[in-house]
Amino acid sequence: MQRPYPSGVTIRLPTACLVVLVGPSGSGKSTWAESQFRPEQVVSSDRLRALVGEGPHDQRAGKDAFDVLDLVLQRRVSRRLLTVVDTLGLDVARRAAYLTLARQHGMPCHAVLFDTPAALCRERNRARDRPVPAKVLAEQIRAHGNTRAALAGEGFDAVHDAGPVVVVPAVMLAAPAAASRQEDHPMSLRFGLQVPSFTWAGDLRDGLAALAVDAEEAGFSSLWVMDHMLQIPQVGREWDPMLDSYTTLGFLAAVTKTCRLGALVTGVTYRNPAHLAKIVATLDVLSGGRVVCGLGAAWFEREHRVYGWDFPTRRDRLDLLEDALRLLPLMWGPGSPPFEGHRVRIPEAICYPRPVQARIPILVGGQGERRTLRLVAQYADACNLFGGPDTVRHKLGVLARHCAAASRALDDIEVTHLSTVLCAPDRSSLRDRTEAARAPGTTPEAFAESVNAGTVDDHIGRFRELAEAGVHTAIVSLADLATASAVADFAPVITAFRS
Ligand code: GDP
Ligand code: MG
Repeated sequence: MQRPYPSGVTIRLPTACLVVLVGPSGSGKSTWAESQFRPEQVVSSDRLRALVGEGPHDQRAGKDAFDVLDLVLQRRVSRRLLTVVDTLGLDVARRAAYLTLARQHGMPCHAVLFDTPAALCRERNRARDRPVPAKVLAEQIRAHGNTRAALAGEGFDAVHDAGPVVVVPAVMLAAPAAASRQEDHPMSLRFGLQVPSFTWAGDLRDGLAALAVDAEEAGFSSLWVMDHMLQIPQVGREWDPMLDSYTTLGFLAAVTKTCRLGALVTGVTYRNPAHLAKIVATLDVLSGGRVVCGLGAAWFEREHRVYGWDFPTRRDRLDLLEDALRLLPLMWGPGSPPFEGHRVRIPEAICYPRPVQARIPILVGGQGERRTLRLVAQYADACNLFGGPDTVRHKLGVLARHCAAASRALDDIEVTHLSTVLCAPDRSSLRDRTEAARAPGTTPEAFAESVNAGTVDDHIGRFRELAEAGVHTAIVSLADLATASAVADFAPVITAFRS
């Protein structure tokens, strides 16, 4: 929908944003808005005058039009819908009201300034069917003269000059600057690929093998599957194919050579933890020492119900997680000690063959601040976080405090991060892919936000910011994984972080 606008610096807007246009009549506001946005995203006082009055210039319908405009803005902003306010924008009190509305809903508010030469505004005005009276336009032009200075102090998140627009997920707003930091002073970041679904066309087994080989070739250093019995609602439908985690990892061990392999993450409720230790040790041996043991407290109650398993309370599940964290190294280590935990009693921790790795790394999924991150500090080799760089920084601050309490060095802990990614080489193919993958019933903006839709450069910037926040390994789930080119299209992002 967004078409190129002939001049000006590109404006980056976050997917949820209130955009206030500012400029006299004839400065090109409506034309710009029409060229850059879908019609439903633009709320225009002139169009509303035509809707509630006798036409776009019906001044007597002005109050009614603005009443409707305010109501529409209120409703759209409360839904976090990208909205453009196409009015003159010259009234300070109105601008303040737009800002207040955006703030109330935690939505960024940007202003776009139309500094079209006065003579051109007058010329365009004269050419209209119904020109604004010359005196009125002169007054608008006079008022506009001061707005740039005024806008600077009003609290907008950004003030732009009119130009072509790109709408990006909020986490990619500052990506261009971050991507240039990466180019000038590269940081290294490892990448993992999560395969959460198996819905590609053609043979499931062949497709999975090809995907794993492609992923290794593209530079992914780890491959992850979920540990679920039914596809989870966040990813697909209950009747979509869902392979068993560790059987699948055994297969992946045979078709790959260097990738680490793991379940992101193994639910502690599904298996007796001694049995889990046996499975993971076997996978370590058969993969030549490439296993990471992902562990988590489990959350998907329905699959416990349908498989006839208990679904203990959160507190009990976290107790079980702690038991597993303590038991697994005993199972993999020397001797056959007895183990007694909160909920698990193992008379003899026996497991032969022993794993290839001296210590199989244990990754704990989840970022609960009181218990989960404390368990990471006490027992784990890696954590798995999600969210933007600010969230990561905050969680690592919490983890650092737990580490201090446990006399553990934070640097010992590998920080992994999981996010969904939709990546395309350029903006126009990104638009096509977003449309192809978009869930029905979502706006393109909400969908782009939910899958972190971005170009290669957007992603380099986003991952740079995550690396700066402390992430060592970025695990991605590709929203278009079933598309043949998905892995190859992400490869340039990996390359940008190779040290
Ligand atoms: P508004 O009053 O600020 O909303 O201005 P409009 O968008 O209605 O534009 C006024 C007139 O200028 C229209 O006839 C447009 O076709 C013309 N116009 C607006 N922007 C441009 C532009 O970028 N280039 C050219 N050539 N004409 C434009
Ligand atoms: Mg207009």
